[in-house]
Amino acid sequence: MAATVVTRFPPSPTGFLHIGGARTALFNWLYAKANGGRMVLRIEDTDRERSSQEAIDAILDGMKWLELDWDGEPVFQAARADRHIEVANQLLASGDAYYCYSSPEELQEMREKARAEGLAVVYDGTWRDRPSSDAPDGVKPVLRFKSPQDGETIVKDQVQGDVRFANKDLDDLILLRSDGSPTYNLSVIVDDHDMGVTHIMRGVDHLTNAARQSVIYNALGWDIPIMAHIPLIHGPDGAKLSKRHGALGVEAYREMGYLPAAMRNYLSRLGWSHGDDEIFSTEQAIEWFDFGAIGKSASRFDFDKLENLNGHYIRNMDDAELMSQLVKALPYLPNGPEFSKKLTDAAQLTLLKGLPVLKERAKTLVELVDSAQFIVNIRPLPIDEKAATIIGNLDDGFLSKLEAKLSLVTEWNHDNIKEAVKSFADEQGLKLGKVAPALRAVLTGTIVSPGIFDVLEILGKTETIGRISDHI
Ligand code: GLU
Repeated sequence: MAATVVTRFPPSPTGFLHIGGARTALFNWLYAKANGGRMVLRIEDTDRERSSQEAIDAILDGMKWLELDWDGEPVFQAARADRHIEVANQLLASGDAYYCYSSPEELQEMREKARAEGLAVVYDGTWRDRPSSDAPDGVKPVLRFKSPQDGETIVKDQVQGDVRFANKDLDDLILLRSDGSPTYNLSVIVDDHDMGVTHIMRGVDHLTNAARQSVIYNALGWDIPIMAHIPLIHGPDGAKLSKRHGALGVEAYREMGYLPAAMRNYLSRLGWSHGDDEIFSTEQAIEWFDFGAIGKSASRFDFDKLENLNGHYIRNMDDAELMSQLVKALPYLPNGPEFSKKLTDAAQLTLLKGLPVLKERAKTLVELVDSAQFIVNIRPLPIDEKAATIIGNLDDGFLSKLEAKLSLVTEWNHDNIKEAVKSFADEQGLKLGKVAPALRAVLTGTIVSPGIFDVLEILGKTETIGRISDHI
């Protein structure tokens, strides 16, 4: 029986969870779910200077927002340093690692020489076979891996295919720094091994590390996990992703009013595909996800596409669910906290009634909130300048006659409202196009809103009459 699939997401907490990291997390999560496996989370906090609790919180928060869960407690890499050192010493004992006493000056010379000669390898192997008795006084050595120098290492990658590396091009990596602390390449191998990771999926920028790590796996006699190195994400213009393109933390997307389900759908399409399908549920993605359909070329992050997709999710979401998503998102939206204050229980009921209309036009939750302001605003309504001009130009008696007409509507529905307003317009010898802006100004305090009969219907009779009478 094949071992249970264990994927991993190992972010370095030196910044927020950016869009590339979120995509990596999603792919690992999908693969684990698709195969009845587990995804473990490891916080790679070995760079003590650059790691912060704030970044850890932002990463966990971002994953929770995207509803990407992990199995078990997060593992903190720095806390496992003793174990990493133990394995380094094991490599020393087996002759696969050695102490290197080269000084910073000597290393600098090697670096310059390698650069001048166009060599891939920087370290010249000075201490590979030199006994420690030659060690200069007072120099704290680093521990280096004795990398094989002949033959080649093939990374059997699920996305990139067989990638061959000549062993002579692999450096003797430092395993322990001169202060005794373990390095990334050592820690990552030990942790992946100890955590039972079977599949490593990460950015293609780690492909060379895959070769370096493979030779260390071999020296330890450990199985190399299955690897899949996924292409990077570029901007819509094909250039490296920058802030302008959307290389932001995922929390920025929450603030822009995107739905987690839409984000997952969008991110899954960055580098992976299922035929021509653009819109699919997370359940479908889980069912379909596999390495075979991950492309080799960089994917392009396109804000317009994301926005359209989000609009689709908003439109097609069940109203009650959309309401709960909106309420959850409000604290993060720029226009959310103000809106929240006005969202009483009664206003929530009215909003729920209005959602079928409002959601047709909103691409983001920010837009949805904007379009719903007229619902939650409390009488007397704030009136903007343009609306005030319209109201100011109305003939005397216009609003009182309109109010009287609407008061006669007994069953307050779209058709009856429309009929009453039309009949009012006819009696006044006005076009509907004259009456609607006046109603809109009075009922919403603005000159933009959903269809005017929808507005009246959503607000209900009492509120509609009340808002009109505020101007009489
Ligand atoms: N902490 C590393 C990173 O964020 C993880 C690399 C890996 O997946 O091995 O790039």
